[in-house]
Amino acid sequence: MNADTPDLYPNRLDAVRARAREIGIDHVVVYSGEDMAYLTGERLDSHERLTALVVAAAGDQPLLVLPSLELTDPVRDAAGRIGAEIHPWSDGTDAVALVAGKVSGRVAVSTAMPALHLVPLQQSVDGEVVLASEVIDHVRAVKNTSEVEQLAEAARRIDAVHARMGEFLQVGRTEAEVGELITAAIEAEGLTHAEFVIVGAGEHGADPHHGVSDRVVQQGDIVVVDIGGPLPSGYHSDCTRTYSMGEPDPQVTEEYAALQEAQRLAREAVRPGVAIGEVDAAAREHLAAAGLGERFIHRTGHGIGLGLHEPPFVAPGADTVLAEGMTFSVEPGIYLDGQWGARLEDIVAVTADGRRDLNNGERGLRAL
Ligand code: ZN
Ligand code: ZN
Repeated sequence: MNADTPDLYPNRLDAVRARAREIGIDHVVVYSGEDMAYLTGERLDSHERLTALVVAAAGDQPLLVLPSLELTDPVRDAAGRIGAEIHPWSDGTDAVALVAGKVSGRVAVSTAMPALHLVPLQQSVDGEVVLASEVIDHVRAVKNTSEVEQLAEAARRIDAVHARMGEFLQVGRTEAEVGELITAAIEAEGLTHAEFVIVGAGEHGADPHHGVSDRVVQQGDIVVVDIGGPLPSGYHSDCTRTYSMGEPDPQVTEEYAALQEAQRLAREAVRPGVAIGEVDAAAREHLAAAGLGERFIHRTGHGIGLGLHEPPFVAPGADTVLAEGMTFSVEPGIYLDGQWGARLEDIVAVTADGRRDLNNGERGLRAL
């Protein structure tokens, strides 16, 4: 749990190597995107042309293989942060074969590598290719204090958008119109963009992955609003609140109260040493006891960091043991098909002796 220092990236690389050795991995192939950003400070996206960072568990200089036309100063800086040798390749070169020639034994590959590269790599590697979940994802799951503070800042900004929801979510507007206003507010908070906006009014609230539509928000609707966007540094926010257009009927009030209590119990279960499945169970058992178990149709949450959804996942039976610095959502929901839904989502961080709530907005069913 160290803050950022000039050694941040070398330390992360060392942590990946140490973990690889611990579980018998010989080489790690890091693909563009979040894994690359975590280890070098740059995502190094290069579309269908392969970019990969080859890391030997035993500690040779890492090798950054990338298309020569992508070789810019930010790339040189990224390589420089971890002392990587740059190996540019030109069109016409078999970049996968180039990477395959540098690795052997048990080779762990970033989970984000597309089949386009992964399948030929598997076919040409002298050894066994496995997912890097237990290497890179494992290391990424434990955030340092700087990362937790960035997630807290992103959470504070998305809380501020929810606090203004009465300005945006009004009877007579379509979900899409509400979504546009929310998007502008997210950007005004200095988040780079709205990564996703769900405005699920009435029956649309029963679809956990609804986006927005031309449905007009009506008096009496229960509306699920799930929003988030990243800071310029890439750390994400993700927060759901449920609103009532006017006073809700007593049954909705009662069921929402059970949801809110389930979410509180799940957050209360968060502390070091606990299996993450127990956090899921805390929410699930309360909803089941309230007769709402069948209506809670998804896991309780997901890790968050440079990725919006990343390990660890808060799912039934999940055995990841919570450790200080892990950050994830706690977001039980209840859904009544064709009628309405509700979800309550906060991001939490595991601390030395419990948890810290990164989202702190009002958690009740707010009548607008
Ligand atoms: Zn979420
Ligand atoms: Zn969400």
